[in-house]
Formats: sequence, C-alpha cells, structure tokens
Amino acid sequence: MPPYHPDTQAIHAGYRSDDFYGAVAMPIILTTTFERGPDGKFVEGRDIYARSSNPNRRMLEDKLTLLEGGQGAAAFSSGQAATMSIFHALGAGSHILIPDDIYYGTRVLLEKLYGPWGASFTAVDMTDIDRVKAAIQDNTRLIWIESPSNPSLKVTDIEAVASLAREKNILTGCDNTWASSFFCRPLSVGVDVVMHSSTKYFGGHSDLTGGCVIWGSNAALSQKIRDFQTLGGAVPSAFDSWLLFRSLSTYPLRMKKHGENALQLAEFLESHPAIEKVHYPGLPSDRFHTLASKQMHGGYGGMVSILVKGGAEEALHLASRLQLVCHATSLGGVESLVDHRQTAEGVHSLSPPNLLRISVGLEHISDLIADFKQALG
Ligand SMILES: *Cc1c(COP(=O)(O)O)cnc(C)c1O
Repeated sequence: MPPYHPDTQAIHAGYRSDDFYGAVAMPIILTTTFERGPDGKFVEGRDIYARSSNPNRRMLEDKLTLLEGGQGAAAFSSGQAATMSIFHALGAGSHILIPDDIYYGTRVLLEKLYGPWGASFTAVDMTDIDRVKAAIQDNTRLIWIESPSNPSLKVTDIEAVASLAREKNILTGCDNTWASSFFCRPLSVGVDVVMHSSTKYFGGHSDLTGGCVIWGSNAALSQKIRDFQTLGGAVPSAFDSWLLFRSLSTYPLRMKKHGENALQLAEFLESHPAIEKVHYPGLPSDRFHTLASKQMHGGYGGMVSILVKGGAEEALHLASRLQLVCHATSLGGVESLVDHRQTAEGVHSLSPPNLLRISVGLEHISDLIADFKQALG
C-alpha cells in the first residue's frame, strides 16, 4: 500500500475486497484449520491453524502496524496478555523499571505473577530522568513507560528515557493506551515496543476485550513476542479481530473528538470552585503542558482526572449525582465514564481518595458540561 495518510489507512489498510465473493467489508473467517495443497504441502501464503495465524487476525495486525508506525504487530485477547508477552520476553532474573503512577493492573501483574517467576521491579518517578538513571540496576532489562499515566496524567519525556535506555543497552516498552497512537508515536522517538489495551480507544465502543503489541526494528524481541502469542495462545477470536478491525475505521475521527471534548470539559472543571485540581496535559496551567505539547500531536487525549474538594465521600457523591456520565471502570468508549479509582483498585490503591477519573466520550460537549454542572450543584 502506498504511504497513505493514517486517516486513510484506518479505513483501507489490511483488507482489499476478496476475490471469491467480492466482499467490500472484511468477512469473518471462523475456520480453525486450512486445507493443504494437492501435493500435501502447505500452501504458500495460506494460514495453517487458527492459533498460529488466521486471516482476520493478520489483517487486524497489518492495520495496527500502520496506525502505530511500526514494523509488525501481535494481537492478543487482552491488554494484560499483550503486556505479558513483553515481560516474558525478558526472561527470569530481569529487573524492570516502571513509573510510580501506572495502570494498577500492570503493577499487580508484576507483583503477583512475575515476582514469583523471578522478575523484580522498581517504581520510579519517571518524570525525573535523574531518578530513572539512579534506579537502573545491573540486571535492568526494560524501562516501561506510561504517558500520560493512569490515573494522575503524569507525562514522561519518552524520547529522553528511550535514549538513556539505549545508551545502557536496556529495552523500552510504552503502554500507549491512554495517549493513543493518534496523538503520540513512541516508536518514532526510539521506543522498542508499544503496547495497547485495545479494549479502550482502539475498540472504542466498550464491547470488546483485546490487546496488542506493535514493534519497531528489534527482530529478536519481536520473535519472542510472536512466540508468546502463537505458543501461549492468548489470541483474540476471529470475531473479536473482525470487530476491532471494523472499529479502527473510525478511530482517527473518534480520537480527534475525544481530544476536543476532553479539553473543553477540563477547562470547565478547572474553573469550578468545587474542584481542587484538574489533571489534563492539554491545559496551559498543567505542569506537563510544555512537554506534552512537544511529544503529542493534534491533541492531548480523552482522559481527564479531577481532585474533588473534600475526600472520598465528596468524590463518590459527585459520581453518584451524574446522570449522563456513567460511574463504571474502563475508558475509551463513545460514552463518557467516571471512575473513583480508589474503590476500583481496592485496598492497595495509591490513588488519592478524592480523585475521579473521567473518560470523556463523544457526546455533545454542552451536555457533558451541563451534567457536571448539575451534579456539582
Ligand atoms: C485497561 C488497561 C490495561 C489492561 O488492558 P485489558 O484489556 O483490561 O487487559 C493496560 N494499560 C492501561 C493503561 C489500561 O487502561
């Protein structure tokens, strides 16, 4: 395919109308196995067995590769499985640096599964490159970046961390779920692998669970990720691959609107006397605004966190008074959600008690602002 604009690739990459039916939209190929040639040999370019590869997943991976600007991609049945493929590739005995503000599930994955397996980790304030440098150990194999981070929207200088890591022969991986490949391209500034929970913005409609890894030019690493996918088998079904492929057609349009709505809602909330603080790197007052403007393009994403004046009670009260915005965990869908992270994360939560995380959806902005206005009273 010629180097079309990503907005065009979101629609056309991965599939051309098929020879057999002339189907313009990608068909769902549910078969688990594929016929060999008359000579008994495997047919060149044809899949063999669905766990190893199948048409819907391959086409999806082609599109994901183009959207993220990578060399290849592996699709998984969840974001967590995608993250595991990267941690697993490091081997036992590895040490991993993670940001101190990070998706809760990644930290728990390291503590519960990878600790006993033989990996260790250190959480560090990744917005301070000197601290990152000081936390590197002899066995550090990976620096894991999440920017903006979940739930406090701390922004890491991705290029600076990637170049430090390269100098020390350490891999970098970036959870790009929040920023999205529409606004941020970590591979273009030297990151080795990018991971997404496609449950979120890629899927975009809160109706599928999935994950993916997109890699740059590190062939040894990408082979290990592919092996984890095809041998480990945490693969998406043909239907889920098809559904995600379909959702990606509108991904650039959706992301643009998520970004616009988030900025306007953040501005409104910042001006409200009942709100103590708004975390959103798109706000000129945000401490990460300059850095975010350097490494994000065309917007700052659709996620906003607020600190409500008072404590957990006031935050939960606000969440309960919202009528249009639903109180539920997760993010990235067309509908706006609000989430009290401390209760979602449970007893080991590091989130402030008065923090509400908002996934700003695609509703009309005046309705979103009106809903917060009435809920704040
Ligand atoms: C949701 C999420 C994940 C985990 O993805 P699942 O699809 O739920 O397994 C990882 N990172 C971030 C930033 C997320 O929001």
